[in-house]
Amino acid sequence: MGGERTYLDHNASSPLRPEARAAMLAAFEVSGNASSVHHEGRAVRAIVERARDLIAARLGVEPRAVVFTSSASEANNQAIAGLDHRRIIVSAVEHASIVHAAEATARKVQIAPVDGDGVVDVDRLADLLGEDSAPAFVAVMAANNETGVRQPVAEIGQVVHAHGGHFHVDAVQAFARGACSLAATGADSMAISSHKIGGPHGAGALIVAEGVRMRPLIHGGGQEAYRRAGTENAAAIAGFAAAAEVAGGDEERNRIKALRDRLESETEALAAPVTIFARNAPRLDNTTCLAITGIDAAFALMSLDLDGIAVSSGSACSSGKVERSHVLTAMGVPDALAASAIRVSLGWSTTARDIDRFMASLGRLAGRVGRSDAA
Ligand code: PLP
Repeated sequence: MGGERTYLDHNASSPLRPEARAAMLAAFEVSGNASSVHHEGRAVRAIVERARDLIAARLGVEPRAVVFTSSASEANNQAIAGLDHRRIIVSAVEHASIVHAAEATARKVQIAPVDGDGVVDVDRLADLLGEDSAPAFVAVMAANNETGVRQPVAEIGQVVHAHGGHFHVDAVQAFARGACSLAATGADSMAISSHKIGGPHGAGALIVAEGVRMRPLIHGGGQEAYRRAGTENAAAIAGFAAAAEVAGGDEERNRIKALRDRLESETEALAAPVTIFARNAPRLDNTTCLAITGIDAAFALMSLDLDGIAVSSGSACSSGKVERSHVLTAMGVPDALAASAIRVSLGWSTTARDIDRFMASLGRLAGRVGRSDAA
């Protein structure tokens, strides 16, 4: 595809950072299996363990808490499958890798509702926990992939623990986009992903708090201290850690926030009916979920794409299709408005020019409101 492109879909996948690329290229030079005892094996092992140290440091945990996986989807699946709680409670806005993994068990699955901003109703969650004396596995994401809304995970962790439950935090969108330590969230386990922070695809991690024992999802050799079999993808892990080391510094976050805030204020100034979802809720600095009433999201996406701009509607993780967002539905957003919702997510590579180009294209779309060709 020729022409200038503006990529504003970092919550789907963030472009590979140069630091991650360099770390991967260096790792590719080392051949061997991290489990082998010879020189080559030890060299690969050193790459993996250095990466583990770096990621552990970012999360304020001991290196042994970090279990490398192929993705955060795998980490979420492992947390659910690896523990035996008779019931599972997930928030109404969780990612499919939590929801479908919970549904795939034979256990009771309950949904903790959210308010109009998409924030978990902690009292309702406490009611659900109190309904049954059996301890629950509770999964709540630190920040939502579609709206960027942050959950009060520390408070939720206290409530879950007061009821003897296990608290799992899907921190995929929050990791390296602000403070995100295991202790601060109160999580017993946490999932993170490389490609959301400018690392490569194919690497993620399950973080397991001290004293928590989980069955592996993938059985085989003794890799990852018998918690995840399979030869480690050393180059991807090295790239993941290199991205984690540099991602989310103050300068980067402030720059991204200023660009996102500008995008939102200019969007609100358009001569068209605009909604910015969860505008006043605590949110990630890089995300905005917005709708222009009367402009269908599928049409908006195509039109922006033709102008060289990549954004997504709702969650673009799997389907490539425009489906109704379960997140906006859970927030009580009417279907007609949800059908217009697009997600714009900024990241390390976003520039002021990207926002200029997006606003010019969005402005043309807004100009169509009320015209019959606005799909
Ligand atoms: N959890 C959340 C909140 C996500 O946004 C995503 C991906 O979009 C995932 C989990 C899955 O991550 P991965 O692509 O590493 O499997």
